[in-house]
Amino acid sequence: MDALIELRAVSKQYDNDGAYAVEDVTLDVAAGESVAIMGPSGSGKSTLLNLIAGLDRPTTGTVTVAGQRIDALSETSLARYRRQRVGIIFQFFNLLDDLTVADNVLLPAQLAGVSRTTARRHADDLLERLKISEYKQAYPARLSGGERQRVAIARALVNSPELLLADEPTGALDTTTGEEIGALLRELNHAGQSMIMVTHNPDLARRYASRTIEIVDGRVTGDAADIRRAAADVCHGGGIASAGTGSAGAAEIGARP
Ligand code: ADP
Repeated sequence: MDALIELRAVSKQYDNDGAYAVEDVTLDVAAGESVAIMGPSGSGKSTLLNLIAGLDRPTTGTVTVAGQRIDALSETSLARYRRQRVGIIFQFFNLLDDLTVADNVLLPAQLAGVSRTTARRHADDLLERLKISEYKQAYPARLSGGERQRVAIARALVNSPELLLADEPTGALDTTTGEEIGALLRELNHAGQSMIMVTHNPDLARRYASRTIEIVDGRVTGDAADIRRAAADVCHGGGIASAGTGSAGAAEIGARP
């Protein structure tokens, strides 16, 4: 497997003399993996995600994504990286209330300079596959939490990013809707989408990610593939490395063209 993400001795201090939010983290994530980052509140999960997203820079250490040292990029290149290579979804969806569903999804494509026709085609396709095309012209306020998160997922995927990042993606949803979103993320991963999800929900990590990284006080304290899933996959002739060979349903969602 190719390493999609390489963190080397990554530390982050928000204040020069303050504590470490992330301390000496070294890890690799392979293309096609679905990783859950777990840990108590304040342990550094969001900081770690932000460092990978290029929303923040490490104090020391290196962050390489798809062969590119993103900690060393200029602000302009970093903005391009964020637009083209990562998609992010958040606990509270972060949709723009004044834009329709379609325009929310189209926005990152427009910012990336994708032609309107191509962007519209891809956005329509995603809305259809995520089962929210009937709300295309609606405003987010009219939608349920689960529907809003589907719109946010479509928006995150519109530029076909290598990496989907999710910060507590089911944290604002009821259990049933949270499970639907978890299952949807798993289907996207089975269709080949690499993803990293921050959660403090062990059930979500166990059921919808193939690897769980535990972080406490900014340090990695555990890193394990789901043994049961790995065993089950081996029994079925697959393996957690072969995330791209999902079910027909998964392939239909088709995260990347
Ligand atoms: P988690 O996502 O696990 O709840 P965070 O990454 O948000 O943890 O926070 C890790 C630590 O860094 C906490 O002590 C938090 O207060 C601190 N922190 C996070 N963001 C900032 C910031 N922008 N400025 C200063 N301290 C921050």
